[in-house]
Amino acid sequence: LFAGPVEFLKGVVAMDGLPPADRVEVCFAGRSNVGKSSLINALTGRKSLARASNTPGRTQEINYFTAGDSHYIVDLPGYGYAEAPPAVVARWQALLRAYLAGRQTLRRAFVLIDMRHGIKKADEEILSLLDKSAVTFQIVMTKADKVKAADQARILEQVRVALQKHPAAYPEIVVTSSEKGIGIPTLRAIIAGMA
Ligand code: GDP
Repeated sequence: LFAGPVEFLKGVVAMDGLPPADRVEVCFAGRSNVGKSSLINALTGRKSLARASNTPGRTQEINYFTAGDSHYIVDLPGYGYAEAPPAVVARWQALLRAYLAGRQTLRRAFVLIDMRHGIKKADEEILSLLDKSAVTFQIVMTKADKVKAADQARILEQVRVALQKHPAAYPEIVVTSSEKGIGIPTLRAIIAGMA
């Protein structure tokens, strides 16, 4: 695990609010309700760590967590909310673009995909943005406990095919269930291994 506890640091609404770029940084992105908070909580071994990022007012912030003294874990707001006003969406997209293009220490983005649904249009948009920003991304399938093994194989194949057109895609896909603890140690090892 990380050498030290994982703590909420701050929510960031503008580029000048980013903490010093002095650690290995990974970020988590995904559609609203994909299971991002549950995954971050499972990953960090804390029950309610990512709850802060789901409280109203926090949902459009880039939420920073410190993991030991070596890593930042960054929780990006969930996307795909049809209800969000256009002005809010535009402001958020501008911040996201600036962050992805400008954060030198960002090593990898984990993009969460619900194993029941596969890659949707809103996901494709962020994958294209990651390509353009040259940020390596790795797909993390969530809620694997809700999908039968045969269906998992089919969905994974679909995702692999979809990744072929994304130059920034990391080839390995991580299958997880926060509920059952599946894939969590793998994901933790991937992050902790980034020195
Ligand atoms: P977020 O909006 O992406 O942060 O999603 P949450 O972590 O709040 O999860 C959304 C819903 O999916 C909640 O009802 C969770 O209990 C459920 N959920 C999250 N992860 C899993 C999982 O691994 N398995 C199952 N069965 N449900 C999950």
